[in-house]
Amino acid sequence: MVWALFTSTQAADYDFGKGHPFRGDRITSFLKLFESLYPRYKPYIEHRQVVMSELPLPKADDILKMVHSEEYIQKVRELAQKRQSLTLDTPLSPTIVQTATLALQADAYIIQTYFPQPNEDATYDGLTLFGGFHHASYDQGGGFCVFNDVALIAKILTQQMSYKRVLILDLDAHAGDGTEKIFWNDPHVMVISVHQNPINFYPGFGFVDQMGAHKNIVNVPLDPYASDRDWLTVFEEIIIPIVQYFKPEVIIRNGGSDPHCQDPLTDMGLTIRGFYELHQKVRDLADKVVKHGRIIDLIGSGYNIGVLAKTWLAILSGMAKAPFFSDFSDSCPHINPDKLHPRTIDVISQVKKTHSEKFIEA
Ligand SMILES: [Zn+2]
Repeated sequence: MVWALFTSTQAADYDFGKGHPFRGDRITSFLKLFESLYPRYKPYIEHRQVVMSELPLPKADDILKMVHSEEYIQKVRELAQKRQSLTLDTPLSPTIVQTATLALQADAYIIQTYFPQPNEDATYDGLTLFGGFHHASYDQGGGFCVFNDVALIAKILTQQMSYKRVLILDLDAHAGDGTEKIFWNDPHVMVISVHQNPINFYPGFGFVDQMGAHKNIVNVPLDPYASDRDWLTVFEEIIIPIVQYFKPEVIIRNGGSDPHCQDPLTDMGLTIRGFYELHQKVRDLADKVVKHGRIIDLIGSGYNIGVLAKTWLAILSGMAKAPFFSDFSDSCPHINPDKLHPRTIDVISQVKKTHSEKFIEA
């Protein structure tokens, strides 16, 4: 399988400005590190740099309407003109909205052009794109998210292509509430979201008993300081059995570095090594269960610029089967990466009870 990373320097225009955690220098720091180390990665990852605005893009309205209401799209455009905010944490400007729109148009073009139908052979079976704006729902945005690219890709696969079973694996520190609401009634899309317990934490959604109209939504809320061992145990105990049960034709994974133990906006406890191992498991599982091992990956979150680029590379390396380079170190003295928290065991058993039909031994 060939893994491709699509990048565009235009993604850095998605920048809420000085003092805001979501800035364009996050993108440029990743690109700088990736380009400087590219000789290491070349055997594993094909790097395709694009200028999004120069691609033969589908019409913006056609794309946005696949995911959002016309009223919402209109409201976002009006707020952007007036430079008002969507929510307190998501101030709008014409540049933000233009870049958010362009990103979805470019995703649509890239998926339609390079990603095959379920039974076709592919140029690429694995793709990484910038993105993961999972808090935007049908008629609402916020949490730095204007338009939902994760949902768009799942809609393209199920509505314009002939995928019947798409799994969204959301490994961001925050629950994928927007994505979950969009697919609440859609039996063709299963969403598994592992995240920090939303009880006192954004977005206040993503509890175990929130499970969709077809039990197609699986939420795994972890307590603060969940370690590498906690995340890896959830992978073994929850994610593997559910993927084996659902038998997706493709996995859309999303999430960046915000579950890292040094992220300033979250209280999760993953190390860079943990990210690598977790995403190696995503790839191994796709290779076993999904025909051609197909994965579309969206990387975007992370607010500690000191670890973001290395962590994004660890995610990418795990999935593209590149080796882990030991110079990717970090410092999390408050976390024991090998500790399994009793609360994690409780949450795993709650999820298994709630979704018991998915855990029947084959
Ligand atoms: Zn997040």
